Amino acid sequence: MPAGLPPKENKTFCILPWIHLTVLPEGSAKICCVTSACIHSEGVPLSLESQPLEEIWNSPYMRGVRRDMAAGRPVADCTTCYVTEKHGGVSRRLLSNTRWAAELGPLHDILLEEARRQDQVVSQMPLYYQLMPGNLCNLKCRMCFPIFSSQIERDPVHRQWVPTLYEITRARKPALDWTKGCVPLAPQPPEGVELDGFLGLENRNGQAFRWTNGNATVVVSLPPGVSVETLRLRLGRGHPRRHRLCVRVNETPVYDQIISRRGGEQSIRLPQALTGPELKIRLESSTFQPANDPRELGVALELLELIHTGAAENPAEKAPAGRLPAGPWYRDDAWVREVLLQNADRLRGLYFTGGEPMIEKQVEHILDHLITQGVAGNIELEFNTNCTILRDAMVQKLLRFKQIRIGLSIDAHGSCYEYIRYPSKWAVVGRNVEQLVALAGAQVKLFGGIVLQVYNALNLVDILEFFDGKKIPYTIEIASLPKFLAIDILPARVRAVAAERLRAYAASPSRCCGPEQQAHLLSVVRQIEKAKNRCTPEALRTLMLFTNDLDASRRQSVREVHGELLRLLEAEGFRWTDERSEAAAA
Ligand code: SF4
Repeated sequence: MPAGLPPKENKTFCILPWIHLTVLPEGSAKICCVTSACIHSEGVPLSLESQPLEEIWNSPYMRGVRRDMAAGRPVADCTTCYVTEKHGGVSRRLLSNTRWAAELGPLHDILLEEARRQDQVVSQMPLYYQLMPGNLCNLKCRMCFPIFSSQIERDPVHRQWVPTLYEITRARKPALDWTKGCVPLAPQPPEGVELDGFLGLENRNGQAFRWTNGNATVVVSLPPGVSVETLRLRLGRGHPRRHRLCVRVNETPVYDQIISRRGGEQSIRLPQALTGPELKIRLESSTFQPANDPRELGVALELLELIHTGAAENPAEKAPAGRLPAGPWYRDDAWVREVLLQNADRLRGLYFTGGEPMIEKQVEHILDHLITQGVAGNIELEFNTNCTILRDAMVQKLLRFKQIRIGLSIDAHGSCYEYIRYPSKWAVVGRNVEQLVALAGAQVKLFGGIVLQVYNALNLVDILEFFDGKKIPYTIEIASLPKFLAIDILPARVRAVAAERLRAYAASPSRCCGPEQQAHLLSVVRQIEKAKNRCTPEALRTLMLFTNDLDASRRQSVREVHGELLRLLEAEGFRWTDERSEAAAA
């Protein structure tokens, strides 16, 4: 490896930052799906929807990661791989290094050497992408998030439990666009708009909003030629009686009224049109404290918009290099073909996750494009599917590619599986797996992808037997989010039962397939046993409320499916009741 330390001595080097990008549904990107953070600049995720692909690929973050890895320095966002290796497991880093050294041949060292000479700028666009084109999915798995499942996004009960990841991984803010006569400023501020005195972004029935703390400001710079005439303001429901709101613009009062408990929309015409350099909108209101909520709240802002005359250039159109997608990247076919896949003839790998790739049209469009370009035969496809839908037309397209690795996202067996991956049916999944097994061979490889969490920790062996019985290799990934489903919230004695079952399975040669699989299972056993203990009564209560909320809305029963887990928790002193969260019970 000419770019730094010799490979055997370099315990942090991973080839992926030189060849790969993972692109998330909202446009942010990661060096791989395992890393703990998006590619960012001073903590703000970069987005393909607001910055050219080339700028992200060779951003200071990416170059810093490459420099660190080449020098053998650990990268904080890659800790998952280092922890797996510390416990004797085979990390994504080790797998990727082996796979791509073989796949790229001499190109491997050429790429690294060229980047080293250019201070870690990689001239070629990625040769291998993981794409998550949207969140269209037919399931709402308990450990999943709205950005990966349209079903969870639409489910008011599930969504209220997992809004945070959406906000954490949200793409860089969109640029202000002064060309359309109307500019939204809040609750999700574009780049260049400053909010002060607002609480975090919330979501109610699909409507984003923020509470103010009673004295909130929104500040925006007005470009030359733009003149603001009207403010449009929409408030959500939930205010008490006789709640007052006063709006000032550049400290001049423009609105002072008692607002409706149900909220509503107001157009506030300014006494005179305002020009720059700056506009400061202050929302002063009475405050109140709702029952069972420690927060002091002002008003629930669903929309604050400026109506203006005069047009300035759209900064997105002035982007120095590279075209930006119009709207969500995966809905702009031309951008996907011409920008993202500009190096289709050099592409070596493409990995689709979702959403559910079997039903996402953009996945099929990309496959069609690569087949039409005559490059499908050069590309190894990877594909994660929940196995609930198998479309023959899609399967025929997959078979046009050099190799296809199909990841079967199945975390448990039978009723436990159905409980986690609602509203799937085990019988359907079993039939589809049989069909895929019939395709498996030199071109089609299957592997199982199991997410270890509270709901399957005690029952893992059932799904391992299923995969081993069909000679399908598998990997177990330990869920760290959502935190209330991570196994480290379970009492040590419950984790010990789970670890012991897995150890016994790994030690049984008639059941567990092969030494590699056995080594992987034993590394998972060690991670279960050594997991930092985060078990507290509060953590278990959060698990219980989440579980009961979802059970009630899905007509499922934790007592029927997870009776053993509840008995073990009871033995550790935690009493599982039918209590639900305030919000869900309301
Ligand atoms: S070291 Fe691990 S987490 Fe980091 S880029 Fe490589 S595979 Fe991903």
